[in-house]
Amino acid sequence: METEKIVEYGRKLKEFKLDRKINIMEVCGTHTMQYFHTGVKDIFPENLNLIDGPGCPVCVTANDYLDRAIEIMKQKNVILTTFGDMLKVPSSYSSLQKEKANGGDVEIVYSPLDALKIAEENPNREVMFLSVGFETTIPTEAIAVRNAIKKNINNFTILPGNKLTPPAVAALLSMGEVKIDGFILPGHASIITGVNAWSFIRDKYKIPSVVTGFESKELIFGTLMLLDLIVNNKSDLLNSYKEVVSDEGNLKAKEIINEYFDVIDTDWRGIGVIPDSGLALKEEYAEFDAVKKFPVEVPPVVEPKGCRCGEILRGLVTPLECPLFGKKCTPRNPVGACMVSSEGSCAAFYRYKKD
Ligand code: SF4
Repeated sequence: METEKIVEYGRKLKEFKLDRKINIMEVCGTHTMQYFHTGVKDIFPENLNLIDGPGCPVCVTANDYLDRAIEIMKQKNVILTTFGDMLKVPSSYSSLQKEKANGGDVEIVYSPLDALKIAEENPNREVMFLSVGFETTIPTEAIAVRNAIKKNINNFTILPGNKLTPPAVAALLSMGEVKIDGFILPGHASIITGVNAWSFIRDKYKIPSVVTGFESKELIFGTLMLLDLIVNNKSDLLNSYKEVVSDEGNLKAKEIINEYFDVIDTDWRGIGVIPDSGLALKEEYAEFDAVKKFPVEVPPVVEPKGCRCGEILRGLVTPLECPLFGKKCTPRNPVGACMVSSEGSCAAFYRYKKD
């Protein structure tokens, strides 16, 4: 029955009549991948164009963050712990993978709590965790700091690099470089932020949007809901992922984030500094902040020559418009961050469009 319903709605999507070109943007790396992976992108109606937005946390992390992380590791003899998807990201002069191959102390972890455990087991070494991610990962980073205090572990730090997604969408809209007719909003980040965090899209910009899940049926329903709003000129904000996303979001998670972090302006690859879009540890937790604990000179940032990752993150071009795509730049030898992460637009295009 369920399958029949998916097929029926899939057909509805495929046959949806659009009398002009419609641009919709998704702002979640998992959506970037899932639209390809589930085949939903293949049943898009004529005239529907999906633009990938700045929804991949690894991709939007500006080079100076990784440059600083490497300098801290090298200059201060620190064990650097990170999620695996940061490993191959090119920094200005190197990458964590190259540093590890050259003897650098780089450890892959699945959670900041794993990094804390490494600190506990190595009391004579400093352990730094690269805190890169959007709203969903931040509460665990706050818990890691809380546990470090509880257990009196004082050789653990995080390098704050977390980002908040609604300000990035607000920044793109205020720049006005791309005409966006509607947004598919991230299911995961919205679990924390709540639907209401996106109300500015409706109230200020009068653009429709739908919070959507990640399975094929959710992508099909969410896209259909959005197209209905667009063709009927309704600038509503709808939630098609009500099983897990509420209007207010996860209040407990927000509470712990606010307890440990301050909202700050931060730099996004390709977009620049966005007001109130990042997090820094509060002053009372400065001893857990690697930037403060390990001041280092960071060499000038160098962007990879020819890489259009920044423009891709702003929705200005697709990966296929980058002359390096699939030639000099592949997942095996990535030139830019958008080809590294499994959630990156270039990686998704390479995996699903090129094969
Ligand atoms: S294909 Fe590679 S070089 Fe081109 S924009 Fe993507 S990451 Fe950058």
